[in-house]
Amino acid sequence: MPTSVVLFTADLRLHDHPPLRAALEGGHEVVPLFVRDSGIADPFRGAPNRLAFLDDCLRDLDAGLRSRGGRLVVRSGDVVEEVCKAVTEADADDVHMAADVSAYAHLRERRLRSALEAEGRRLHVHDTVTTAVAPGAVTPASSDHFAVFTPYYRQWSGRRLRDTLGAPRAVRVPAGVGSEELPSRSAAGVSPGLAEGGETLGRKRLAAWLRSGVAAYEDRHDDMAGDATSRLSPFLHFGTLSPVEVVHRVRRVGGPGAEAFVRQVAWRDFHRQVLAARTDAATADYRTKHDRWRSARTAREDVEAWRAGRTGYPVVDAAMRQLRHEGWMHNRARLLTASFLAKTLYVDWRIGARHFLDLLVDGDIANNQLNWQWVAGTGTDTRPNRVLNPLTQGKRHDPDGAYVRRWVPELADIEGGAVHEPWKLSGRDRSAAAGYPDPVVDLAEGLARFRRARGRE
Ligand SMILES: Cc1cc2nc3c(=O)[nH]c(=O)nc-3n(C[C@H](O)[C@H](O)[C@H](O)COP(=O)(O)OP(=O)(O)OC[C@H]3O[C@@H](n4cnc5c(N)ncnc54)[C@H](O)[C@@H]3O)c2cc1C
Repeated sequence: MPTSVVLFTADLRLHDHPPLRAALEGGHEVVPLFVRDSGIADPFRGAPNRLAFLDDCLRDLDAGLRSRGGRLVVRSGDVVEEVCKAVTEADADDVHMAADVSAYAHLRERRLRSALEAEGRRLHVHDTVTTAVAPGAVTPASSDHFAVFTPYYRQWSGRRLRDTLGAPRAVRVPAGVGSEELPSRSAAGVSPGLAEGGETLGRKRLAAWLRSGVAAYEDRHDDMAGDATSRLSPFLHFGTLSPVEVVHRVRRVGGPGAEAFVRQVAWRDFHRQVLAARTDAATADYRTKHDRWRSARTAREDVEAWRAGRTGYPVVDAAMRQLRHEGWMHNRARLLTASFLAKTLYVDWRIGARHFLDLLVDGDIANNQLNWQWVAGTGTDTRPNRVLNPLTQGKRHDPDGAYVRRWVPELADIEGGAVHEPWKLSGRDRSAAAGYPDPVVDLAEGLARFRRARGRE
């Protein structure tokens, strides 16, 4: 019986899974393999929220395979060694996996290909598994990737996406390929409000979103208290949802909400095609502005206040506390907290990006590092020196202050938009806000420091 190994990475699903479908073609047996890869560096490997979500995804994937007659094979160690062992144990002819974009993913693919070829086996790498449009599939005339989103999006929108594939009816796994026990969800260091993972839940969330969320997306996506975005990001990050399927299904709903939403999914592909072409952008400035950032040492107190949600700017603090509590943050909150750290406090964007990666359940090298760079003005933003004012942002996107009151208990008794400026409170309201810190920085001074640093006085 011909046999293939399917190496699952950031594509933990059965629906619309090109590597699995290709492996099953012609009635092959398959070894559905997931390797807990010791080569993936912290913080990409060690973040408790993502590890807990990953455990959910693996258990759900295993359950889905079992209901089709198969099972998931889980191993720990060096990914190349483990794949080669599984190939030998199953006497497999080839290995199928999804393409990915980071420097590590490129290295993994090269190592795997040469190890397999040395054994006379083949590696098949499938694109459009973790992106809707493959990196490099659309390019400008003079470069291998787009550095500006708008022209990228124009071309991206014009691409015909491949058809969605259904989940397989049956999966046969050869006997004699052992697996580690599937762990139950790890609890250590996990945010108390962390969402549950898995393809089953991801598909339910997508269905609910199509029914009753996406239509209002264009109008409500910035309403921080309304929480009116899809929260599909962790499911897309772990690949329990296929971006191709998401785009097809959202487009079928149609209307301005659907269009605005698909545009955001295109941002995800955009960052991936940047990182695929410039893997060093995960840590180095994509377009340096020769910043001499304040460091974790020189800005220690400011960084601590930012991480703890105690900057004295309520909307910033609410957002940072949401991150700690849920392992997730609203996009508007990510924008304004990142701008506050990198521009108002003029702290190295890498310090903020690392903190996000430590906590975000959707923490993703491409999306996190390149969004941080976009905000810091070292990335692809065409207005790199814009600074978001947290007061204006709070009043605009949380006008009634409900988002702040939800996350900052010291301010829970302050009514309405006044909650954004606790330093202006008097009398009973002032005492109600006791325990809430004074601002760590004067906004005008922060802005002046940033403008000086960028030579724009
Ligand atoms: C500083 C900063 C750091 C970020 N870090 C991450 C990260 O680590 N992982 C991550 O997935 N997203 C990141 N984002 C992008 C965005 O904030 C999240 O994808 C979004 O908030 C997730 O919530 P949602 O699923 O409800 O999004 P929705 O608004 O419902 O959007 C749908 C999907 O589109 C994609 N998307 C939306 N906005 C963006 C964007 N700006 N860039 C790229 N893709 C986008 C996501 O996959 C998202 O799930 C970051 C943004 C900023 C400003």
